[in-house]
Amino acid sequence: PTEPWYIGGPVIKGFGRGSKVLGIPTANLSTKGHWSLLSEHPSGVYFGWAGLSTRGVYKMVMSIGWNPYFSNTEKTIEPWLLHEFNEDFYGEELRLVIVGYIRPEVNFPSLESLIAKIHEDRRIAERALDLPLYSKHKDDPYLISSL
Ligand code: ADP
Ligand code: MG
Repeated sequence: PTEPWYIGGPVIKGFGRGSKVLGIPTANLSTKGHWSLLSEHPSGVYFGWAGLSTRGVYKMVMSIGWNPYFSNTEKTIEPWLLHEFNEDFYGEELRLVIVGYIRPEVNFPSLESLIAKIHEDRRIAERALDLPLYSKHKDDPYLISSL
């Protein structure tokens, strides 16, 4: 297995499409300062652990790429934290330990098929993160080191 990789920063505003169009909120991180990391890792869907400074550590499934369905021109980092929150957390420090790769970024013929695939990705991430190989990273000090 490959080493995990690490990205962190404040949660920024995206296009507001995650929750409003898809029913899938994604806590966007700035890509600035992460160019070399991003160029080392292909666009696609990853999973791992997310630490939110004031709240805790959660499973996450994440897209890195251009979101071809929406024809974005900029690469984005968009983790979906697999937890129900009662409010938004824009501006909070978010730490990601990325431990696995699910699939490359592809385009979808419809919004329905995109949403169905993201839910399939979520189920894969949920199960994988329970395996000892991946669950051990939940305790990585990086996740809470901004506290
Ligand atoms: P944006 O385009 O601004 O990223 P989204 O529609 O993707 O908007 O919603 C993301 C925002 O929703 C996050 O920045 C965060 O504040 C909030 N949020 C609430 N629940 C979650 C969650 N489970 N995972 C990720 N973000 C969440
Ligand atoms: Mg988002």
